[in-house]
Amino acid sequence: MDKTRNVKRQGKTVKALENKKDGSCPYAKKCGGCDYQGVDYKKQLETKEANVKKLLKDFVKVSPIVGMENPYHYRHKVHAVFDCIARGQVVAGVYKKNSHEVVDIECCQIEDQEADAIIREIKNLLKSFKIKTYDEDTGYGLLRHVLVRKGYHTGEIMVVLVLASPILPSKNNFVKALRKNHPNISTVVINVNDKKTSMVLGERNIVVYGKGFIEDKLCGCTFRISPNSFYQVNPAQTELLYEKAINCAHLTGKEKVIDAYCGTGTIGIIASKYAKEVLGVELNKDAIKDAITNAKRNEIKNIRFVNDDAGKYMVSLAEKKELVDVVIMDPPRSGSDEAFLSSVVKLAPKRVVYVSCGPDTLARDLKYLTRKGYKVTEATPYDMFPMTYHTEVVVELIREK
Ligand code: SAH
Repeated sequence: MDKTRNVKRQGKTVKALENKKDGSCPYAKKCGGCDYQGVDYKKQLETKEANVKKLLKDFVKVSPIVGMENPYHYRHKVHAVFDCIARGQVVAGVYKKNSHEVVDIECCQIEDQEADAIIREIKNLLKSFKIKTYDEDTGYGLLRHVLVRKGYHTGEIMVVLVLASPILPSKNNFVKALRKNHPNISTVVINVNDKKTSMVLGERNIVVYGKGFIEDKLCGCTFRISPNSFYQVNPAQTELLYEKAINCAHLTGKEKVIDAYCGTGTIGIIASKYAKEVLGVELNKDAIKDAITNAKRNEIKNIRFVNDDAGKYMVSLAEKKELVDVVIMDPPRSGSDEAFLSSVVKLAPKRVVYVSCGPDTLARDLKYLTRKGYKVTEATPYDMFPMTYHTEVVVELIREK
């Protein structure tokens, strides 16, 4: 077993591999985005699996981690910040750790290669179109960021040009030049971000080519991805994870299912084909709008979405003594809360499927549920983010009493 050490990530202490070395990625030292850079993939999986096993040892025998056959270039959402350095040289990539210096990245190991090629192409086109990159300090210049999103099954590509003002000179010719070598680009959107902010996207989108969104398929359902939509970045693994979550729900067509923390409704929409009815609850208003659009797009009639805090909403369901058969929950990394979990216990669904992106908060929440009459019957880790320390876990619980 390799030695691990505690490091701070996003304000939390996590285990990083001691034998981390800056291996084959030429940007690793400056970029710092991949915690497990240079570590053999098999070893990465072993470390992640061992961590989940340790955290869940009191609840269940954890199944082997589901890793990727090819752990490279899995990110279907790629973001590059643009800047200009000495002698007018344009750079595009990520901010160097803890700084505002842009690391110029030509090709990232975990990003989709076509997306990276599009970003390189945009870098080359800027000069001939006399488009200046935005300068954070002076507020001068136009192009701030480029966001590329690609459908996994459809191959449709959306390019979002984040500009400091709404006008892109010769925009039609720019799109034409860009699509010449990348005909899979199906839509180009200008996103206007005229604020002094570290947020990438502004509020206003102007469609300059195509429909303004792309579509992708997951588990047989179609989902719309707009510039601001949340959509899992690793669709290949997401499909496996969702399949597992739906299997753990053991649906027969008769169940009332809650999809809590539902995001854009993906899990609930897939589950609705196998359930009597589904109720999705989510805090983010824009995600709920997307969820409703997605349900319509798939002609699904037995699903409803509620824009509310999941805990608060579950309390109201528990007060009304609603009949709920299955709760599927996919909370953020911070996990769920007592309002939610105590209401699950009151509603007493026969099954709970917990999809977690934070194994430590998962362990905390499982402690609560297992003390209140639930038993963990299965737990499977998924590697959604190779080269990083993140791990997702799908857990099945059944009510014992
Ligand atoms: N199940 C979705 C999204 C999971 S991400 C998917 O697979 O795509 C977690 C979601 O929880 C986010 O969409 C976030 O906006 C939402 N969320 C965070 N806190 C919440 C709360 N207190 N109540 C409801 N939703 C919340």
